[in-house]
Amino acid sequence: MKLEQPEHPKPGDASERRKVRPVICYPVDSLVQPDLASYRAARRNWEKLSEIVVPPREARCFDVPAGCFFRIVSIDGPQVGDLNLWSAGNLQERFFSGKTRALHGTHLSTGDRLWSSLPYLRPMATITEDTLDWYGFDEWGGSVHDVIGTRCDPYTHRLLAGGDYHHCCHSNLTRALADRLDRPRESVEPAVHDVLNVFMCTGFTRDTGQYFMKASPVRPGDFLEFFAEIDLLGALSACPGGDCSAEHSSDTAACHPLLVEVYRPMEPPRGWKSPGVNAYSGTHGGTV
Ligand SMILES: [Zn+2]
Repeated sequence: MKLEQPEHPKPGDASERRKVRPVICYPVDSLVQPDLASYRAARRNWEKLSEIVVPPREARCFDVPAGCFFRIVSIDGPQVGDLNLWSAGNLQERFFSGKTRALHGTHLSTGDRLWSSLPYLRPMATITEDTLDWYGFDEWGGSVHDVIGTRCDPYTHRLLAGGDYHHCCHSNLTRALADRLDRPRESVEPAVHDVLNVFMCTGFTRDTGQYFMKASPVRPGDFLEFFAEIDLLGALSACPGGDCSAEHSSDTAACHPLLVEVYRPMEPPRGWKSPGVNAYSGTHGGTV
């Protein structure tokens, strides 16, 4: 945070320096745009492959083959979900929330892609429908489905509040991944990563730049739908913060389950091909 009383005086040209217009860091005009019409056409006569209910304050894993869709659905009451994605069979390739934010902005919606970590950097999934797209940005600059938070975790909780709390999203995701892979928790914990905060309503305060949350506008029946660009292993945690209107990292908030549905289309979207890993040579210049 910036000092309330800066220690250094303004230079004479401070206002001119402040007036410089920003430029977008990563213009995305050169990215191949998803063909949403053909993705959506592929949903006709799709069949449900599987579904899983994520209990409150827990997480569950799910598999989505490339070319299939998955939906995260609010079923019982306002509830926020923390989503992790891995390339099936390779935990090293995982959702890269920071680069996704750099490319698509602080909050995601229809047409945005979830990019994977370096050196893979390819689309893992494309958002094909968002029933909360009407929300836009509110008067505080808040919006839903952010890639600016991390995930609630017991270490930060320990720092700020003391004590051990075991149902933060980080722990929920760790337990779910360990169960799914039948591996010890400590061996899979490093694979748990920064999330897409599904349905969560967040932003940064204008005066201090602090991360804020407010009650999610999600209601039962709302969903966020994705198309799997590659074979995916997913994990979703129903955050102990519930709708995140007051607090998280405790058993205080009212929490609800979330539903994950996986659908297989009759045929893949017209013209669609699963993306290969990033084509950069990986040599980083110089001699090897
Ligand atoms: Zn959480």
